[in-house]
Amino acid sequence: MKFIILGCGSSMGVPRADGFFGNCNPKNLKNLRSRCSAIIIGKSKNILIDTSPDLRQQLIKNKIKKIDTVLYTHMHADQTHGINDLRIFYLRNKKKIPVYADTKTKKYLLKSFSYCFQKNYDYPSILKLNNSKKKFTFDKSIKIESIKVGHGSINSLSYIINKKLAYLPDVNKIFKKDLKKFKKLNYLIIDCLRYKKHSSHFNLDDIFKLNKLLKPKKMILTNLHSDLDYDDLLDILPKNIKPAYDGLTVKI
Ligand SMILES: [Zn+2]
Repeated sequence: MKFIILGCGSSMGVPRADGFFGNCNPKNLKNLRSRCSAIIIGKSKNILIDTSPDLRQQLIKNKIKKIDTVLYTHMHADQTHGINDLRIFYLRNKKKIPVYADTKTKKYLLKSFSYCFQKNYDYPSILKLNNSKKKFTFDKSIKIESIKVGHGSINSLSYIINKKLAYLPDVNKIFKKDLKKFKKLNYLIIDCLRYKKHSSHFNLDDIFKLNKLLKPKKMILTNLHSDLDYDDLLDILPKNIKPAYDGLTVKI
């Protein structure tokens, strides 16, 4: 089984739509960051996490030919607005793709993308919307636990896969009662927006604290804003922490 970080950029991506690279060296391809999505490639099932506005390009680049299920982390535009790119996978499967989301995200998806869930003129609905579950099993061997984390004024769902890899792309608080679940994992893939504090994302200082507290074997930083250059980060990070780049793949 493998886990691919399809996109690791913050909400506007790097470069932004106006070409702005911030502090990122435009010559380093690892600084070209699309908006956050990830996918679990199992034996027979592919499970997508979030539908980034850059989803189409991410799927082409990584040669993903099918999507069996979608798990959403939260309702923000940079996690949801690529939803229309799922249409081809409905057509290939000839069945609605199950989508799982928390209550707020469900409401947002239904309001903003109703045509994906309800038949509309000549076009069939392509997705089936479900309440998120605490535990999912796919392919018998992929076990995923969803855990609520704080993300500014809303909550976001994080996912822990086979008790080995946690994915928390948008988070500024892990609740005390859940801390033990995130300890000593093989991979902690986690939000590190920028150097400065932010009200709804972890920053680099938070990451150093979490590294001491949670002791992951490897930490991979995602949701990276344009002030975080890949090589600059590598210079200052401890050995077990690495910045993500689009397409980074880990075996679980
Ligand atoms: Zn967000």
